[in-house]
Amino acid sequence: MRKLSEGLDPDQTAALEEAAYLVIKAREQAAERLERAGVNVDLDPSPFAARCSHRLPAPPPNRFCGCPRYKGDGGLCVNRFIDFDAPDFGGGPSERPCHHPASSHILAP
Ligand SMILES: [Zn+2]
Ligand SMILES: [Zn+2]
Repeated sequence: MRKLSEGLDPDQTAALEEAAYLVIKAREQAAERLERAGVNVDLDPSPFAARCSHRLPAPPPNRFCGCPRYKGDGGLCVNRFIDFDAPDFGGGPSERPCHHPASSHILAP
């Protein structure tokens, strides 16, 4: 299947990031609207969460960032989160920055 992010020129890439940010903001507002109405939106997987699907370098293969929510102003995500899926070297789960573009939070890997 064609990937939306493939073969874009720099202007189109900028447009994609802006569009992704709009989707993320809309999802946040949608979740807030439901929360105001007393609806618990804490689902897994959540239709509102916009989890980061950026593929991380191996090892292990096919591991994705998994940052639970985009934080930032349209640029790279500045969120830090506890990475429970990280390989365990004995230190237990550790905090990790996402630092991936907004589009990683709305597109499949
Ligand atoms: Zn993120
Ligand atoms: Zn990420």
